[in-house]
Parts: sequence; structure tokens; C-alpha cells
Amino acid sequence: MLALDGGSPVIGKGQVAPWPHIVDDDRAAVLRAMDDATPWHWPMRTVQELEDAWAEFTGMPYVLAANSGTAALHMAIAAAGVEPGDEVLVPADTFLASASCVLQANAVPVFVDSDPETFTVDPALVAERITPRTRAVVAVDLNGLPADYDALAGITRRHGLTLIEDAAQAHGATYHGRPVGSLGDMSGASLNGSKTLSALGEGGLFATRDAEQFKLARRVLMFGEELPGQGRDYNARIMGWNYRIDVLAAAFARSQLGRLEEMSRVRRENGAALTEALAGIPGIRPPAVPEGMTHVYFFYPLLVRPEDLGLDDLPVAAFRDAVEKAVNAEGLGIMRWQHQPVPAQTLFQERRGYGRGCPWTCGHAEPGRVYRPEEYPVAEDICRRRLVLGQSFSSLGPPNDLATMRAFADVFHKVLVEERDAVVSLARRIAAESAEPAHTP
Ligand SMILES: *Cc1c(COP(=O)(O)O)cnc(C)c1O
Repeated sequence: MLALDGGSPVIGKGQVAPWPHIVDDDRAAVLRAMDDATPWHWPMRTVQELEDAWAEFTGMPYVLAANSGTAALHMAIAAAGVEPGDEVLVPADTFLASASCVLQANAVPVFVDSDPETFTVDPALVAERITPRTRAVVAVDLNGLPADYDALAGITRRHGLTLIEDAAQAHGATYHGRPVGSLGDMSGASLNGSKTLSALGEGGLFATRDAEQFKLARRVLMFGEELPGQGRDYNARIMGWNYRIDVLAAAFARSQLGRLEEMSRVRRENGAALTEALAGIPGIRPPAVPEGMTHVYFFYPLLVRPEDLGLDDLPVAAFRDAVEKAVNAEGLGIMRWQHQPVPAQTLFQERRGYGRGCPWTCGHAEPGRVYRPEEYPVAEDICRRRLVLGQSFSSLGPPNDLATMRAFADVFHKVLVEERDAVVSLARRIAAESAEPAHTP
């Protein structure tokens, strides 16, 4: 019997370890940073150690630690020379920050639909959206899988655009042997607690190969000031923010980075094992990993497919919600993530921006920009069908292992094979309820 109907859940409390995986070395690193910290001196040694370690891991010569991935992406957009009214191409299916970093520079995001196999941005559609106003392209390593950088770099090079990698979900993954963080001209990564490289709290990493871009990004990081080695002159050159990372968060992330290679190997093996175990279970489609790439499964995305069970009459949304409820009740954390493509969010539908419609109405942007969600049919379909494992409470990272993955697969076997009839009736009830006219009491 489904746990939802009073049966016993497949996965017991405490059987799945939450992310991040904290070991004694991490605790010691944070305590050491507390003793070493010198708040009047910037950058602090621990922060520099994190920057140096990310530079070494990615092979990118210039790295800055920031206080979020959002900040690191804003720094990259500014460092690319994006100015008010410029356009930046951004995937339609991603987290808001991949697009709002463009608004933060008073520029205009232009969205691009997804590839239906990889869920990352479709390079062919990127080429179609380039105009004389386009300055940069943001590619996102969505779910833990790199975007198609060979195709993207070909396009950006041909058009003289800057390619910015949003590496927030995929630290530790590789593209033809090259590490995430080094796949574009610049990258912005997140160290938010849930990410595959975690600061436990908040943090971010900016990286570039170019000394000029590094200088610009550093101004944005710290009040618009230049930092000529010794001392501050307290003279803002441009509009800047305070994006400095907390030293204890930096210490935690630095310590985790020492194990990123090993943690990524576990994630890869766990993900591959789960995909193999789910192969015979109809009604869900596990994620694909193209030749030459590795996936680190920040999210393990599943697309529900009721039509594969002969349930063509059942609305996809009702089936998805029934599976989500049933799987959660069995003790496995699963959720929807983005409910709609980013351009469908109210921010882009109403375009109030900073107020008075800026940046869209600030005078520099192409007038009359509107965002039509139906221009992104692949992203819409993915958002309708997607349920994700991973992140913090159904992590594919260590210490969860192949036995944990077998337990995950057992949940889907129970919900979609053994107890399919119960799940389908639940889906039919959900469909009937949502079809009913709303009552006002
Ligand atoms: C998490 C995330 C960000 C933002 O990172 P924060 O550290 O939370 O600001 C940006 N892009 C993507 C794709 C993300 O998943």
C-alpha cells in the first residue's frame, strides 16, 4: 500500500544523508579561519586561499570570491562591458539569477529555448536571437550538466560576443575533459549551501582569463574602488556594490573544494546507477548525459510521461502532482523546481523593473520589448513535466551511495509499477478537483 494511503514508507527517517556532507576537516577549517580573521584587512587570507584553489581547479587565472552566485554573475555581466540597453541572451529555463544579473546592469535579457534532450540552452536558437544590440550570452550548466560549449563558443566568437558560464549548479562536472567554471570566457558560480560546491551559507565565485575583465569585476565587488595592492584610496570609479564573501563561508567552501573531485565522482556513479535502475520503470524519463560530458546531478531531473502508461487522457500536471505526493510520502524528497520558464515570471510580464519600467523604458533599450512564454515551448514542456531529486534532502552526493540509489529506485518501482493503480486514481482525483469551478463561500 502507498505510504500516502497508510502503508509503510520505503525510505525511513535518517536513511538519506542531507547535503552538504560535513566532515571534521570542514569544522577545523572554519575554526581556524575564525582565529586567523583580520576584518580590517581585505582580502583576508582565507578568502585568497579559496580564490587560489578555484583558479587552480578551473585553470582560470583570475578569480574573485563573492557573497553569492548572483553577485558573481552580475560581476561577469559588468566585466563583459554590458551597458544600459544592451541585450544579453539567457536560457528560458533556469533560475532567475541567470537573467536578473542582466537587469542589474540595466541591460535587457532576451530568452532562448532549451534543447529537449539535455535541457540546456539550444545553440541553434541562440544564433537566431542575436541582434546588433546583443553583447553577451549566458549559458547555464543546468542540473549539473554542462551546456554545449563548442557550439556556443563557435557562435559567440563569430559574432564578437562574450560567453558567460553560469556554473552555479555544476561544479565538478566536465565538458570534453575541461572543468565547469572554465567553459566560457568568464564564469559565475554559486556557493549557496545546497550547491555541489557549498559554503554552507552563501557565497559565489567569479572567474576570467582576462586581466581587464578582472579589474572591472573587482570594482563591482567593492564599491567601485580600485585596489592597488596597498591600502584603499576610497575613490569609487564606477557604480559598485559590496559583494565580499563572509570569511567563515569562504573557509567552509575552501575545505569542501579539497574534496570536490572525489565528491563529483560519487555523484557521477550514483546518478549513473540510478538511471540504470530506473530504466525499466515506465511513466518517467531519466536525464541523458551526452558523449564527452559528465553530470554531477545537483538536480536529478525526471520528466513524467503519463502517455507512456497509455494514459493519454490524463492531464500531465495531475499525474505529475500525484507522483510528487506519492514519492514524498515514501520518504524520498522530490519537488517541481521552476514552475514556468523565467520569461513567464511576473517581473518579465509586467516589466516594472526598478520602477517606471526601467531598464526597458530607460531610453537606451529597444522600445516595445514583450516576453511571450509560448516562444519557449520546450522549456514550457519541461517545466510542466519536471520533478527533481537532489539538492539538499535527496542528495546524490556522498555519503549517499549505491545502496541509497537502490532505495530511490525502489520508491519509483513501488509508486509507478506495484501501486500504479492507486497513483492513477489519485491523479484522476486531482484532475477532477482542478477542473471544478472555484466556489466562493
Ligand atoms: C543558485 C543559482 C544561482 C544563484 O546563486 P546564489 O548563490 O543563490 O545567488 C544562479 N544561477 C543558477 C542556475 C542557480 O542555480
